[in-house]
Amino acid sequence: LLTLDGVTVRFGSHTALDAVRLDVAEHEIVSVLGPSGSGKSTLLRVVAGLGAPDAGRVLLDGADQAAVPVHRRGVGLMFQDHQLFPQRDVAGNVAFGLRMRGASRADQAARVAELLDLVGLPDAGGRAVAALSGGEQQRVALARALAPRPRLLMLDEPLGQLDRGLRERLVVELRALFNRLGTTVLAVTHDQGEAFALADRVVVMGGGRIAQTGTPADVWQRPASAFVARFLGFDN
Ligand code: ATP
Ligand code: MG
Repeated sequence: LLTLDGVTVRFGSHTALDAVRLDVAEHEIVSVLGPSGSGKSTLLRVVAGLGAPDAGRVLLDGADQAAVPVHRRGVGLMFQDHQLFPQRDVAGNVAFGLRMRGASRADQAARVAELLDLVGLPDAGGRAVAALSGGEQQRVALARALAPRPRLLMLDEPLGQLDRGLRERLVVELRALFNRLGTTVLAVTHDQGEAFALADRVVVMGGGRIAQTGTPADVWQRPASAFVARFLGFDN
């Protein structure tokens, strides 16, 4: 579904992504792990079309996306700080992308109800987002990202602001949800427990490069380098 073919992104003299190669298959759930500043968010942004690569190509279904604008890529992006619209209620937030695409009011309402059901907030449509807990806000952000039925869903620290207990519960729910919907997912986290619980495959980044990619068990049992081992917390 997705191929990054030698993708490089520079900010001035700083290389945020250095000739990255990555393939993601349809229905696969991939976690991107790595320390702060390793290029994780930059990777998601370049796939979404928020910023063009300085070198290399982003391909979706084999087609170069260089000339394809953000809203035509069929990808959904949930940002690191989920950025709900505080002045809209829950339903208004979830419907945002549908309204942008010109869906009728009736279609919007039906889809919003379906999505809120899906994320476990069936009665929250009329609530103010400011009155929701952190976990509820994350679910609303997820429903909003899923609304246009993206073929590729990208999540940047989807559970970032939550406490550990809630993260552990939600990550299990999310994996079941994505499997049920058949959604292809690229999810950034700096929490290895979360990455391993969520994903079919883990990508470890360091300094703008992919340090290792493999199943959670592979990466855990056979870190490919001292960098990966250190990142996983094997200190000696
Ligand atoms: P974190 O875990 O802290 O979110 P990250 O892995 O997502 O980190 P990126 O946001 O992808 O890291 O940034 C990679 C590098 O590129 C960092 O050194 C960052 O300072 C730099 N960078 C990212 N965006 C910009 C920008 N718009 N302008 C200049 N430098 C940037
Ligand atoms: Mg980031």
